[in-house]
Amino acid sequence: MKLAIVVGHNARAQGAVRPDTGETEFRWNSHLAQLIEEEARLFPRITVETFFRTPAGTYRAEIERVYRATDDWGADATCELHFNSHTSRAATGTEVLSSGSEASLRFSIALQDRMLAALKLKDRGVKVRRSGRGSESLISGRAPAVLIEPFFGSSPKGQQATDEAHEKRALARAALLAAQDAFL
Ligand SMILES: [Zn+2]
Repeated sequence: MKLAIVVGHNARAQGAVRPDTGETEFRWNSHLAQLIEEEARLFPRITVETFFRTPAGTYRAEIERVYRATDDWGADATCELHFNSHTSRAATGTEVLSSGSEASLRFSIALQDRMLAALKLKDRGVKVRRSGRGSESLISGRAPAVLIEPFFGSSPKGQQATDEAHEKRALARAALLAAQDAFL
């Protein structure tokens, strides 16, 4: 299967910042995408390609352009990478946003299970998002789409669960295990 990884945000507007390392969503997730590509060597039936969003005038145009690229590549599924943030440091946990289609839900549930096992943070569940924040990413491409928020960058718990190299690699592997669970 062909798994398209879409890095959330873009180089110009990089999203939330995790205060422990100063890394933005864009930077942290660009590296996570690289780890997913590396770990994919252990999954010979999964081909991974990373796609970056680039400013396109409007938000909608930016999202449509990157998902058109995943369609053109022939993606069987897409996974957009983010991390959460909140003004309260107490907000914590793992969640996945799904379009609500059968295949998106299957992938979302597998991702949620695998990410919970990897990071051991609070289970915030799979959320079907048909409008509002993140929804455009879930409905713009042809392939089943999901958007992951593995942790809160603003939370000490989220930071501690993801600040070591082996933890980040386990998260990368979780994405591939979930694709295998859902589609192979
Ligand atoms: Zn984000």
